Amino acid sequence: MVKQTIQIFARVKPPVRKHQQGIYSIDEDEKLIPSLEIILPRDLADGFVNNKRESYKFKFQRIFDQDANQETIFENIAKPVAGSVLEGYNGTIFAYGQTGSGKTFTITGGAERYSDRGIIPRTLSYIFEQLQKDSSKMYTTHISYLEIYNECGYDLLDPRHEASSLEDLPKVTILEDPDQNIHLKNLTLHQATTEEEALNLLFLGDTNRMIAETPMNQASTRSHCIFTIHLSSKEPGSATVRHAKLHLVDLAGSERVAKTGVGGHLLTEAKYINLSLHYLEQVIIALSEKHRSHIPYRNSMMTSVLRDSLGGNCMTTMIATLSLEKRNLDESISTCRFAQRVALIKNEAVLNEEIDPRLMIKRLQKEIQELKDELAMVTGEQRTEALTEAELLQLEKLITSFLEDQDPESRLEVGADMRKVHHCFHHLKKLLNDKKIFGNNTVSNTVSSESKDQDCQEPLKEEEYRKLRDTLKQRDNEINILVNMLKKEKKKAQEALHLAGMDRREFRHSQSPPFPLGNPEEGQRMRLSSAPSQAQDFSTLGNRSSLLHKKTGMREEMSLGRQEAFEIFKRDHADSVTIDDNKQILKQRFSEAKALGESINEARSKIGHLKEEITQRHIQQVALGISENMAVPLMPDQQEEKLRSQLEEEKRRYKTMFTRLKALKVEIEHLQLLMDKAKVKLQKEFEVWWAEEATNLQVNSPAVNSLNHTKPFLQTSDSQHQQSQLFSNKSSGGWEVQGQGTGRFDVCDVNARKILPSPCPSPHSQKQSNTSTPLEDSIPKRPMSSIPLTGDSQTDSDILAFIKARQSILQKQCLGSN
Ligand code: ADP
Ligand code: MG
Repeated sequence: MVKQTIQIFARVKPPVRKHQQGIYSIDEDEKLIPSLEIILPRDLADGFVNNKRESYKFKFQRIFDQDANQETIFENIAKPVAGSVLEGYNGTIFAYGQTGSGKTFTITGGAERYSDRGIIPRTLSYIFEQLQKDSSKMYTTHISYLEIYNECGYDLLDPRHEASSLEDLPKVTILEDPDQNIHLKNLTLHQATTEEEALNLLFLGDTNRMIAETPMNQASTRSHCIFTIHLSSKEPGSATVRHAKLHLVDLAGSERVAKTGVGGHLLTEAKYINLSLHYLEQVIIALSEKHRSHIPYRNSMMTSVLRDSLGGNCMTTMIATLSLEKRNLDESISTCRFAQRVALIKNEAVLNEEIDPRLMIKRLQKEIQELKDELAMVTGEQRTEALTEAELLQLEKLITSFLEDQDPESRLEVGADMRKVHHCFHHLKKLLNDKKIFGNNTVSNTVSSESKDQDCQEPLKEEEYRKLRDTLKQRDNEINILVNMLKKEKKKAQEALHLAGMDRREFRHSQSPPFPLGNPEEGQRMRLSSAPSQAQDFSTLGNRSSLLHKKTGMREEMSLGRQEAFEIFKRDHADSVTIDDNKQILKQRFSEAKALGESINEARSKIGHLKEEITQRHIQQVALGISENMAVPLMPDQQEEKLRSQLEEEKRRYKTMFTRLKALKVEIEHLQLLMDKAKVKLQKEFEVWWAEEATNLQVNSPAVNSLNHTKPFLQTSDSQHQQSQLFSNKSSGGWEVQGQGTGRFDVCDVNARKILPSPCPSPHSQKQSNTSTPLEDSIPKRPMSSIPLTGDSQTDSDILAFIKARQSILQKQCLGSN
């Protein structure tokens, strides 16, 4: 058992703008516990300016400042936890902090760069690497991915559904057994035998999470996501199985309401937006207070699921993510206060060992056999299960003559064979009962005195028999219990299979790696010739989840008008830069992989040649020795030594290249998944944009027609006014500057890459602007139902024309203002 308090770490996010940075300092004296000091300006707290400042100091295990990269975070925080999970302990890492402080970035990673991958992909990589190295145990790995939103659990890994909202995903519910263990009904566990398979599952879950999110539910801010790696290990031949779970948790944003001031008093009174975080805090408070008998885990689904991680059988780590910009200082202080409480909680992690009933039965059967063999050694006879007919007859004869013998000293000798002893008793009982029926009890007297005699005369042997008999009986009972357990397990498994069976078949697709990794000794060939074409057509690679693929392949179903509009949307979308960049990187990686593959092939054939040459050289030397009548050449063969050192060098080169190729393979896989995800996001955002455009067309339809067909490029100030009305109406959808809050639409930035046509309507966009102009009022409006949003290619081309008209006006205006 390992007793440990929850470890707390802090990570400070770089500010979006330097000048917005608040004042803080990190004190990391080696001898002292690291501390973070946050300075809160008090000038506005009391409604008048004063220069008093308040300082808050918090202690953490370690504090990672803005420049700490993902690798450092993994090495220092996640790797030790992953290490204990590999040993068989449960582990949890959870990120806590306000929205935008870097929880998702820390747990899952950034959406753009491979180097930004977070704790989950790095942990998967580490765990699979360790499993490969350790041949002393057999491991199985399963993955589950749960999202909790509004007290409901959703299975993010269910491949059955094309989730377009959270409600489309299967609902996960909590069951509690009599021992108060929590079971999650409907949460599917997917076996992952390789890092790639696990990575696919992560991206499948993330894509489902993204698709299911709507601006209304703001799932990423308001929901908790729990990615769990379930690891079982067993030593060959042992009946003990170790189970360990690693929860990697991205909690909902911890921001609170009642944020009316920055004073300390108000901070404590502020309420969480997310109710389950309020319950989490209650659990934490209860756990950190001594002698509290009731811990309110049951109040929320999240605290129930994470029950073991909080004050239970788990090694738990918290990462407080902090955005120390001026406007976020109060939230950051709340986060740090929460962390200080969490640090008081003691957990007791134990090795989760379990007996595998099948293996136990095998082991007990073996023990029985050994006992039987021992018995055979003692008695000198080999025993079969039952006595033969002849033996039984012989015994009965013996009993009859024994009963008939008048000599009180006579004995019934059957030898040290329990089967015979039992049969004698059995037969005597039968005789006795028969006699009883005829009212004669003489036999019973004889028998009882006889058996007493036997008891006295052979106490040791009888004792031995009894022991053996008892052991056998006990083993039989144990086997019965275990068989029952097995039956139960089987039933459970069948039920689970029944639930998940069909989906798995659909989900498990052919998992062929982009290129097989070989080893020169096995003579496998690297097939890399198709690599560049794979890089170009990254959406058709077979090594990804069919669902992810399905989700990226929606475009073929679009009408031509929509496809063209999609191209326009994509061109101006900020993410297309990322996609293009990643495409470039991917191409480079593929070329590098191809070149490496070729070099590896070269190295392999060189190794082959060198080996051949050495063998030839050897044969020559032996032949020379024979012809000169010498068994072994006297001089060490310099030529051979040279060949050998060349061979060693070549092998080293091969190994280095091979390791690099393996790393490249993981990187390529990751980049492909990042791009798939970005494409799904783009598509989703396009759909929203398209629907908005359709509505705008409806509102402005006659205006567009006149703009587009009669007066395509109006230049008068009047018409410019009309155009800007048109835009303001459109842009009431709110155009967003990426990574920031909602910004107003800037006409001249339309072609600037970092401007994003708002995919998720901001609060303004959810209602259409009601401020109509006299011009608009005079336009007869098309009724809503007259424009279907999808499928009608005539309408689609109308919408496209509308988009294009606006585009050209925008361009004109940009040119005009420059
Ligand atoms: P949260 O999940 O807490 O709401 P995110 O992880 O989504 O926050 O982070 C918000 C933004 O800040 C994202 O664009 C993310 O890429 C960026 N970000 C967060 N942490 C860091 C960091 N340590 N370094 C660089 N960028 C970061
Ligand atoms: Mg997040």
